[in-house]
Amino acid sequence: MEWIWADDGNILQKSIETFMKSLDHRIKTSLELLRSNEELALKMNPDGYYLAFSGGKDSQVIYELCKMAGVKFKAHFNCTTVDPKEVLRFIRKKYPNVIWHRPEKSMFKLIEEQGCLPLRNMRFCCRLIKEIHGVGSVVVTGVRRAESRNRTKHKVLMHTCVKGEDKFMLAPILDWTNAEVWYFVRNIIGHYCELYDKGFHRIGCILCPNASVAIKYKELKIAPRFEYAYKKAIQKCIDNGKYQQFDNVDDVFKWWISGISIKKYMANKDQLKINLNDKK
Ligand code: SF4
Repeated sequence: MEWIWADDGNILQKSIETFMKSLDHRIKTSLELLRSNEELALKMNPDGYYLAFSGGKDSQVIYELCKMAGVKFKAHFNCTTVDPKEVLRFIRKKYPNVIWHRPEKSMFKLIEEQGCLPLRNMRFCCRLIKEIHGVGSVVVTGVRRAESRNRTKHKVLMHTCVKGEDKFMLAPILDWTNAEVWYFVRNIIGHYCELYDKGFHRIGCILCPNASVAIKYKELKIAPRFEYAYKKAIQKCIDNGKYQQFDNVDDVFKWWISGISIKKYMANKDQLKINLNDKK
């Protein structure tokens, strides 16, 4: 019996034969989904599907599946201005047909205008930079349930309305596992962004509020100039009266990276001061 290793290091309790059977089934189901919704996609947009491409492994899989399904599609990459250079380089080199969209306003300008930093529950950057695209189309996304608990209720085909215009979201790999995605990327596609080999299991915007603290610190190591840029934007928020309860810009940045609430961060700081005083 052979074993398949998932990217999180766990052994999948399956033989290679069972794994391949399941992957084959996944591929067939995804292809059927893409083919059966093509009519809707073409009805909404003569270009066919709007494929949301990020340069990450999941978007590589949906790109390849669209090609295998023979459906009409155009792949789009929405820059956020805080994209890792490795991702930009990878897309340019390996996916020259992808259409790039540069935002009118940078992430830092948005922070300044909104007067605050984006948070896990207030992702104005995604709303203003990414989600406005693909309206009037069926958007193919690489969303997978295995990526986040918030996605357990996600459906394969979902309808939204953006500024009065219809937008459908099709998630053909919703139920794929990490191991299945990696097998497909490594053995069928054959290339992926170098950041995955540098310990990043997910790639995307530098310091995205959705990322873990460990990933954020890793990102700062490979792209230190972003710390300066974010701090500059934070300083503008402070000058406009926000974040007055913090000591300084570094303190705000530290809190933001931590991903915890201001209340909890302040309580932790107070506790630390008490402990230090006790030791004196
Ligand atoms: S930083 Fe995160 S929330 Fe903001 S646009 Fe990028 S992915 Fe979306």
